[in-house]
Amino acid sequence: MKAPFSGNGKDISLGSRTNDLSFDLSQCVIFFDFDNTITRNDVLDKIIERFAIDDYWVLLEEEWRKGKIGSKECLEGQLKSIRVTRSTLSRYLSTVSLDASFKRLLQFLRRNKIESMIVSDSFSFVVHQILKHHKIRRVPVYANELRFRKDRLIPSFPFLNEDCLRCAHCKKIHLKNNSNKTTIYVGDGRSDICAAECADIVFAKDGLLDYLRKANKPCIEFKNLSSVLTFLEKLKGKKVKQTVKVSISASKS
Ligand SMILES: [Mg+2]
Ligand SMILES: [Zn+2]
Repeated sequence: MKAPFSGNGKDISLGSRTNDLSFDLSQCVIFFDFDNTITRNDVLDKIIERFAIDDYWVLLEEEWRKGKIGSKECLEGQLKSIRVTRSTLSRYLSTVSLDASFKRLLQFLRRNKIESMIVSDSFSFVVHQILKHHKIRRVPVYANELRFRKDRLIPSFPFLNEDCLRCAHCKKIHLKNNSNKTTIYVGDGRSDICAAECADIVFAKDGLLDYLRKANKPCIEFKNLSSVLTFLEKLKGKKVKQTVKVSISASKS
């Protein structure tokens, strides 16, 4: 079942149906951004701040924020300034904390057979190290790739989309691969725009929220993942009836 969602930040219409249906959460797939969505801050920014040997990265960051360069150019340039070995980076990543509700949310998703995945414009090494430290397993991760050459980091971009000038990892590829399901996207920033524009339901905060509001695109504001958990718990088992709007308030944490 693919529900035609049209959230406006307050109410979600579950659309028109000819018959009563129970909303089937198992037909949803939920995509999480990683930095500042699952983690409490932007891990990649912190890595760059911590291990860069010069300030060239600041210039690139500004250009990227203004939309003058894409993520690939930005990341490639920024990584050239970094000096860190694999073991030092691993140690640093063990200090990163997660949103307090992420584990509970994952348990809910598993209990209700809702497929989930992490899609990140950071690097899979970084994401996996952090998840491993928090003993989180069995969540598929799609991200850019990283190799170590002593203290140099060499990036590669398996999900580059030639048609997209914005992203290094254009996350909408994964949503398109799941277009037979109801897609839910949770994210916070510029690298989430492509995915958010083709998701059925979007949870947004910070830069992504600002962007979607300016573009007049429906989304649900969230401050942390407990809002997403509350939303899904309310959605579970809702009856969907023709012309009846099922109202689910976008929870404020
Ligand atoms: Mg993010
Ligand atoms: Zn893109």
